[in-house]
Amino acid sequence: MKKSKFLKLKVREASFITRALISSKHPVLAHLIPMRRCNLACGYCNEYDHTSKPIDLEIVKSRLDKLADLGTSIVTISGGEPMMHPELDQVIHHIRVRGMIAGLISNGYYFTPERIKRLNKAGLEYLQISIDNVEPDEVSRKSLRVLDKKLRYLSEYADFHVNINSVIGGGIKNPDDALTVAKRATELGFSTTVGVIHDSDGTLKPLLAKEKDIFQQVKKLGNKDHARLNWFQDSIAEGKPYNWRCRAGARYLYICEDGLVHWCSQQRGYPGIPLSEYTMEDFDREYNTEKWCAPTCTLQCVHQVGILDNWRDPQKTPEQMAKEQKGREAVGEMVRAD
Ligand code: SF4
Ligand code: SF4
Repeated sequence: MKKSKFLKLKVREASFITRALISSKHPVLAHLIPMRRCNLACGYCNEYDHTSKPIDLEIVKSRLDKLADLGTSIVTISGGEPMMHPELDQVIHHIRVRGMIAGLISNGYYFTPERIKRLNKAGLEYLQISIDNVEPDEVSRKSLRVLDKKLRYLSEYADFHVNINSVIGGGIKNPDDALTVAKRATELGFSTTVGVIHDSDGTLKPLLAKEKDIFQQVKKLGNKDHARLNWFQDSIAEGKPYNWRCRAGARYLYICEDGLVHWCSQQRGYPGIPLSEYTMEDFDREYNTEKWCAPTCTLQCVHQVGILDNWRDPQKTPEQMAKEQKGREAVGEMVRAD
């Protein structure tokens, strides 16, 4: 990434963080799915199919417009494999036109010099690729050996920030692979992070002693900003619950291919309201509601967004929220009767 573009991005990030600290009334990060289809079938993944069609560009743009109108700061395009969407460049361009930071999560398979140059032109600012192992196996083909050539292309041509995420847990056979991946990423000039893989319902699998050791080594190699923001991972690696306030459904939004708002990829169905009908009332309810799955949650990006508000606005249980809602309705009825 060119130095001038990197500095501009850092300034924009700083202004988005300041805005998020001053006001809690807008989404900070949205993950948007323009396509559920994927070319791979990772053993731990519950976020793909092999048959669905790409969502029409105009529909995706209208969802981006709604996110921009809600004041969203960052939109990350995810999947399935979003690089399979034939109009991905226009999607990214539209995020930038609406003044938001444009990110992409991909399995890396489709990067060629020509494709990377098109993403530069579209205005992509962040890319994350997760690499699960060194050699492909029955759990995952997101492997360093298969992707190394793609990483070299990215190192040479990408004018956007590239982060390589390695993973530990969840059936990954050789924990040492995470260290090999992180070292290679650093060598090529990328930032690195490490994630603990969740099981099929998004909750924690405790790490073995060897995994814990590698996990700490990879963290040391990685992106210092992320390491500072990911305190929760130390508790999770120890198999201990972590106390935090998940603001999913408000500060973080997950928009599926059907245009519904969900808490996150692992809690689809809640609240399950169409984005086009999402109001600040929905936002406030989700912002203030405690999530049952928070103590063992491993989703890094939602934790990072949560840090912005962890120091304010304690949350209430769904039961307390329902009671308050009933109280408000009763007062409303009395006023109407009057
Ligand atoms: S590449 Fe990503 S979306 Fe596709 S199956 Fe693997 S983890 Fe799931
Ligand atoms: S705590 Fe939040 S981000 Fe984590 S699984 Fe639950 S709803 Fe999703």
